[in-house]
Amino acid sequence: MRGPRIRKIAYVPEAERPVRNDLVRVLTAATASFYPKDARGDAMHAERWRVRIHRTRDLGKLRYTASSVHLANNHPVKWHKDQPKRWPALPAVLTAIRDARHDMAAAWETFFARGMLPESWVGEGVRRFWCDACEGSGDRNGWYNGCTTCENKGATAAPPSLAWAVSLTVRGVEPLVRAELLAREAVARLAPFGVAARERRVVWRVGEVNTSDPPKGWPGGCLGSPDSEAWTDLWQAAVGEGHFAPWWKAHIEMWPKGDAAPLCPHEPAMELLGLGFALDAVDADTIVLVCPLLGGAHG
Ligand SMILES: [Zn+2]
Repeated sequence: MRGPRIRKIAYVPEAERPVRNDLVRVLTAATASFYPKDARGDAMHAERWRVRIHRTRDLGKLRYTASSVHLANNHPVKWHKDQPKRWPALPAVLTAIRDARHDMAAAWETFFARGMLPESWVGEGVRRFWCDACEGSGDRNGWYNGCTTCENKGATAAPPSLAWAVSLTVRGVEPLVRAELLAREAVARLAPFGVAARERRVVWRVGEVNTSDPPKGWPGGCLGSPDSEAWTDLWQAAVGEGHFAPWWKAHIEMWPKGDAAPLCPHEPAMELLGLGFALDAVDADTIVLVCPLLGGAHG
């Protein structure tokens, strides 16, 4: 017998815990705090969300509107004031995840069905998502049966968690399309410097965006010289003016001018950083792009 009293007992299935933890992280970052002036305000705001989500027995009762997230009892909590500018797709993204009953593979299908992903991403295996479990290697150093998360592929067909799926999609489609164009342009411009021109697949990762070092696989040598005094002066000037990517700016300023000079690969790479994404690695057949984690240090 399933009476109403029994159904009142709070019970969170083990499988739902990662989703709930990610929801707490995302909603803490994306909503207005009640404690903006308190020194411990951020921790109190996060704790409040932890309790709210813990008390929400059915996550399907959450509603996301243009102005607020509505709890199961319909109480609205306003979005952060920067939400419309920084994460314009957030209400639609969270609604799609809820409609897919917080099953992330189903949510990814829902994103496609609702036009929330670039058209270039449609198709089996066209876009892949970095496997954190094996650090993209496809196995775990061969000492046991390989990586069960990605089945030894080093990447998965859908983002592995709610936090990743939300982080990738909250800005809308256009920035993703633009980011991939810029990354491909930067890599194409590396052809004269030993990075063979060829078709590469894009793999997305969610994590820390590094603005101060070159991506893995970025050739050194002829691309401006960090050892030279002229380069160091340009770099220090960029640091002094508070530029967001001094390493890249100094390289662009060092780049040879004139019609005979090859196109500067640092320009599209820095424009990509300006969008908030980064080129993470380039190898023989893959370009890895990184997107900041919503609710992380740079999200
Ligand atoms: Zn793996």
